Amino acid sequence: MKRNSFYRKINKCRICLNSNLFEYLDLGSQPLANSFLNKSEIKNEKKFPLKMNLCKKCGLSQLSISINPENIFNEYDYLSSSSKALVNHYNQLTLFLSQKYKLQSSELILDIGCNDGILLNQYNRKFNNLLGVEPSSASKFIKNKNIKVINKFFNYKLSNLIKQKYGIPKIITITNVFAHIDDIKNFVRGLSNISNSETIIIIEFPYLIDMIKKNYYDLIYHEHLSYLSLKPLKYLFSLYDLNIFDYKKLNIGASGPSLRIFVSKKYSKYKISKKIDKQIIYENKWGISKLSKYNNFKKNVNDHKIIFNKLIDNLINKNYNVGCFSAPAKGNTFLNFIKIKSKKIKYVSENNNQKIGKFTPGSHYRIITDEEFVKKNIDYAILLSWNYKKFFIKNSLFSKIGKGFIIPFPKPIIFKLNE
Ligand SMILES: [Zn+2]
Repeated sequence: MKRNSFYRKINKCRICLNSNLFEYLDLGSQPLANSFLNKSEIKNEKKFPLKMNLCKKCGLSQLSISINPENIFNEYDYLSSSSKALVNHYNQLTLFLSQKYKLQSSELILDIGCNDGILLNQYNRKFNNLLGVEPSSASKFIKNKNIKVINKFFNYKLSNLIKQKYGIPKIITITNVFAHIDDIKNFVRGLSNISNSETIIIIEFPYLIDMIKKNYYDLIYHEHLSYLSLKPLKYLFSLYDLNIFDYKKLNIGASGPSLRIFVSKKYSKYKISKKIDKQIIYENKWGISKLSKYNNFKKNVNDHKIIFNKLIDNLINKNYNVGCFSAPAKGNTFLNFIKIKSKKIKYVSENNNQKIGKFTPGSHYRIITDEEFVKKNIDYAILLSWNYKKFFIKNSLFSKIGKGFIIPFPKPIIFKLNE
């Protein structure tokens, strides 16, 4: 296959079309973060540039390339429901929406990028008009008969079909999806097309400012095309008759701390909170369009790599066995950037059956079950799903016998367990 059919280079901002983009971070050539490998696939693994660009005009950070989604979703091992913490998070969201907006059981509720049904499954059983859109094979895992599924990418064209066949949704949720969309304008045009003055669109995504401030560079991987904040989004929605009317900061999301925004038609009944413009003023002051802010981030990323490698070397020199705990996509950006020599890491423990028995992309560590992991005499485990650290410290088998978790972000520390 020709190389250029795998990805296209991004020459202009996907929101404001400005062609003057500035590269500020290069994480090297990396494989797709969700493509866990069978042993026979290791030798043919493909890698792609992982670089970040800034559009100074609207403040959008974006990858320098866009991988053809067919290549990403053909080999997709991410099942949301494998994360108990995430199930709980979406349960809270559906409860909140049901109460706050007094949802009726027959109203159409749409979840775009519904994965294995994790969010829609949380609605009370009485809801009988649930619709999910999911292009990946994850949709095969939806067992709830109440959920109708469209196995396609959402776009303007699909929005027409949804409108004709199912009508206008009262609620549209889009969690951990927005950053993945290349033609985001077409997508938002589609959202506007299936919204009326009653519709509420709820979108969750990792917040760019948190990522930069806390040095969460492991959020950067090929599936995440855009790194979002309120300023460019307000502009994007305004192009299609939509408004952000509220937002909330969240401590948890599929990739860590997130922003939840509430969007409606411009003429809707939902009042626009003053918080929105206040936060945009803050984003401007903070330096969302200033390259110096991002150059500083680059320095912090490189420092993190040095500090982390020293910490690991120190443990290895003391003859401790080191492994990795959990195998999220973001862990692969991190592992492939810091480049720990593969023989230093023994195994990766994971509870998702889709990944067990496979090898991590790029770093090629073998993935085993938690039960196997505790038999391997691992002393310290790098917790790659650091955003769920409370959960793993409390619930994992390794917590009972290991010496400690190495928490890589925001600053690498060792959380002592049993010594
Ligand atoms: Zn722009």
